[in-house]
Amino acid sequence: MVRDTTVSRFVKRLYGDACQVCGVRLEIPGGALSEGAHIRALGRPHNGPDTIDNVLCLCPNHHTLFDGGGIYISDDLEVHDHQGSVIRVLKRDAGHPIDVEHLRAHRERWGY
Ligand SMILES: [Zn+2]
Repeated sequence: MVRDTTVSRFVKRLYGDACQVCGVRLEIPGGALSEGAHIRALGRPHNGPDTIDNVLCLCPNHHTLFDGGGIYISDDLEVHDHQGSVIRVLKRDAGHPIDVEHLRAHRERWGY
């Protein structure tokens, strides 16, 4: 689910709406389309926080894959496909801390 909170707007702006996995920036009239993806989902039962260390800027495809467990991210920010192969290294801005506990919770949720 896409929730455009203040936090996700901040993270999306940090990356200029370019996906942290593939770098794609989808341009639309008046701007670009990206999604703020919560690493640990908001609400029950995951209870992830709406904080910048729990949000990624992703394109719709990678957001869907991430939310569906089709990709996961290791502690060293390598992006893996569902078979475990490294497909990318997550782009991370120096001003964007990412809490590895949230990455671990996401992996655990999907059995990685
Ligand atoms: Zn992408």
